[in-house]
Amino acid sequence: MPASRPAIPSRLPDVGTTIFTVMSRLAAEHDAINLSQGFPDYSAPPLLYDLVSKHMRAGSNQYAPMAGVPALREAIAAKVEALYGARYDPEHEITVTAGGTQAIYTAITCLVRPGDEVIVFEPAYDSYAPSVVLNGGKVVRARLAYPDYRPDWAAVRRLVTPRTRAVIVNTPHNPSGTTWTQADLRALARLVDGTDIAVIADEVYEHIVFDGLRHESCARYPELAARSFVVSSFGKTYHVTGWKIGYVLAPRELTTEFRRAHQFVVFTVNTPVQLALAEYLRDASRYLELGAFYQRKRDLFRAALSASRLRPLSCTGTYFQLASYAGLTDEPDAALAERLTRELGVASIPVSPFYEEPPGEPVLRFCFAKNDDTLLRACERLARV
Ligand code: GLN
Repeated sequence: MPASRPAIPSRLPDVGTTIFTVMSRLAAEHDAINLSQGFPDYSAPPLLYDLVSKHMRAGSNQYAPMAGVPALREAIAAKVEALYGARYDPEHEITVTAGGTQAIYTAITCLVRPGDEVIVFEPAYDSYAPSVVLNGGKVVRARLAYPDYRPDWAAVRRLVTPRTRAVIVNTPHNPSGTTWTQADLRALARLVDGTDIAVIADEVYEHIVFDGLRHESCARYPELAARSFVVSSFGKTYHVTGWKIGYVLAPRELTTEFRRAHQFVVFTVNTPVQLALAEYLRDASRYLELGAFYQRKRDLFRAALSASRLRPLSCTGTYFQLASYAGLTDEPDAALAERLTRELGVASIPVSPFYEEPPGEPVLRFCFAKNDDTLLRACERLARV
């Protein structure tokens, strides 16, 4: 008798494989230079690996406390206070997570009940909407308009209803490479003032900000901090995206609710990496110099791109550069990204997957977290199209 199979209707019927996985796979198939998925092609300083190894060999290989190793939470608290003037209690207000995406997912799980609405800004990082939908919520979309990708606060205000439970914000912004200003954070604070709307602030590129700008963290604004889950990631800061470790800052009541779910979703994050990061974090220059490190790469990439018919848009943060291909072709972005990978050997990310209804703008995203030589070789190839 053939085995019968249960009929399981998908909770995400419209979702395929993420564009980052698709483009990285295509890049590998065609031996292309991979400027698609965001990850560095260089290593962290050996000291960081030595520290992990030291803690593993010293026997720190069993479960860490559920909320994270105390030394790491204390180091995070000290950093956040020094940078943003906000005092988070490591015991009750900081939780170490298995990366930024998990922190965002768990925060959404805590907030969203079936029928609740969550405002996201499009183009939106690809995990936000599915995470809301998996929790029974409804995604409400605000627009960051090409080519400046500035929020239109009057338009956002019109999206608020009595069902609005949360707003997800992301600065520095992936994929646009833009950053929000003090005025934006003030407008956000006014939007949520006097409501039950929580904020999920995806700030995983917090240390990658250029041109003398400062990162406008929700943690800086007490009226926002009081209702925010502020999410960050060590992967971006220390060139170890594959370690999948980050953290979330939130006031005590929100953290209590977060940990209720967190303990049953991941329980706890691997111990030796946490201990290593706790030590590594003590030297502030390691994250304070990251902006200058990536600004130089941004400038090198933009200058080299000028030999091509791609035109870089403004980029004030993250390690992503958007480029307009309006002067090149009227192909859809996904088709062009695929063709450039196959024919030229340079992989990028089309921006349309960051929208529910893509506006059809002629832009591709390039990751410049790569060795200079990789960037220059990619631009040489791009100049041929
Ligand atoms: N954050 C990475 C990017 O934007 C992708 C991570 C992933 O592949 N999910 O490229």
